[in-house]
Amino acid sequence: MSKGLLIILSGPSGVGKGTLRKHIMRDHSLHLFYSISMTTRPPRAKEKDGKDYYFVDDETFQKNIDEGNFLEWAEFVGYRYGTPKDKVEQMRNEGKNVFLEIEVNGASQVLNAVHDDGVVPIFLLPPSLEALEKRIRRRKSESEEVIMERLKKGQSELKYASQYKYNVLNDRVLRAANEICQIIRKEMTKHLKQ
Ligand code: 5GP
Repeated sequence: MSKGLLIILSGPSGVGKGTLRKHIMRDHSLHLFYSISMTTRPPRAKEKDGKDYYFVDDETFQKNIDEGNFLEWAEFVGYRYGTPKDKVEQMRNEGKNVFLEIEVNGASQVLNAVHDDGVVPIFLLPPSLEALEKRIRRRKSESEEVIMERLKKGQSELKYASQYKYNVLNDRVLRAANEICQIIRKEMTKHLKQ
């Protein structure tokens, strides 16, 4: 059995990575495994521990850094987020295509750390900066200060797009999800031939 792919979906905060991921995960023919991140951010309404994130305190997060348990981790607008390493390797070795949904600094760390041709970096672009702002505001979970910080961050994150093998425009959710599914399918076929 060949090793699974490592798909990285990145892009600015508010671009709609989470919504797209949920659509993409429904396609069972892609054999995807979603890597649940650990974060120090408190859960939003409707978010569940162990499903959306592993919600932990600072001390627990730090312990995981010290023990080398993360494939990557980054600070994002006051909180820390990281990808637990063990599960990623285990699932890839079992032939599953591991799906990471992470911000750009973490994605760069993964690209620097993992050098095999099973890595598939995808950057999701917003149709416009206005659309990005609208999405961030629609979430209604953050204060004006945090919204402004996330917006500023989002704009600066856009310059990373050219470092990714694939850029996908999130103009319409179903269209963009379909494009990503096709990219994954193409990469699966290519990977099998090697
Ligand atoms: P949010 O607080 O909106 O859930 O996430 C903030 C940002 O952190 C988003 O861009 C999200 O994709 C990213 N993120 C989520 N999990 C991880 C992770 O494990 N590592 C990194 N580097 N970023 C993550």
